[in-house]
Amino acid sequence: MSLPPSHIIIRPPVEAYSILIAVTGGCSWNECRFCGIYKGVQDYVVRPLEDVLRDVDYLANTYPNHKWVFLGNANPTSAPTDYLVQILRYVKTRFKNLERLSAYSKALDIVRKTDDELRQLKEAGLDIVYMGLESGSKTVLRLMRKGTNDRTIIEVGKRLLQAGIKLSLYIILGLGSYEHSEDHVRETARVLTAINPTIFRFRTLNVIPSSPLWTDVQDGTFKIMRPVDVLKEERDILQHLGPNVTSEMYNDHISNYVTFSSKNISLDKERFIREIDSLIEDPRIQQMEPKWLTHM
Ligand code: SF4
Repeated sequence: MSLPPSHIIIRPPVEAYSILIAVTGGCSWNECRFCGIYKGVQDYVVRPLEDVLRDVDYLANTYPNHKWVFLGNANPTSAPTDYLVQILRYVKTRFKNLERLSAYSKALDIVRKTDDELRQLKEAGLDIVYMGLESGSKTVLRLMRKGTNDRTIIEVGKRLLQAGIKLSLYIILGLGSYEHSEDHVRETARVLTAINPTIFRFRTLNVIPSSPLWTDVQDGTFKIMRPVDVLKEERDILQHLGPNVTSEMYNDHISNYVTFSSKNISLDKERFIREIDSLIEDPRIQQMEPKWLTHM
């Protein structure tokens, strides 16, 4: 059974107290092997403009002073720019005290938009997009069918920042398993260094039954990394970051084994590395089994 497109399936933890408005249903790509969020759950569709504006009206009448609005589902920026501009402007008009207007986005959506279109989105009110980098390794991205490579994400990241739209990137620790861990670490640090995003956030790979990767985990062809090795990946990515990276950084997800937050990673990096090192040396962490979150 497919859920209606007006139903928001997930949103970033940081948007937990935001008004959620569905612009698209499902995911326009829906191919990533580690992701089972929309597969068999909700089909991709761009919602009719009048339906979205009706939702904006209803929510603005109910919560007129709300400060944060998040647009879903997986990638509203896959919709045509003219359509998005009308929605963004309408949200800004109806919520007078708005401080943040955000959306999920996929690099493939942005590649298809011109710099002028990105500026139009910014001018219409889009403050920040949340985007899955997942890994900087072209091998890991290919194996996971992410649909983008390192070059695309660097280009897209720079263009978004240039247009004045803030960029929050997600990184999935353990996504290359043991075989590609070294490449995952080195290349992810390289891509982050090339972009210097506004924010980056670590998540840990959790494979849920509706994702294609689940079968590989069950038959043993893909190994879930142990917590201690996940921590080593995070430590090594931080260690490989260039000195120019001044992003905010958060481990703010239930899948993480450690909670960190930084307003400027260049100032906190060495301290985080020392803290992770002390965890890595702890025998209790060394013996810890992976979390098995079958839903999030
Ligand atoms: S990870 Fe994102 S882009 Fe990939 S299938 Fe899931 S929702 Fe779509």
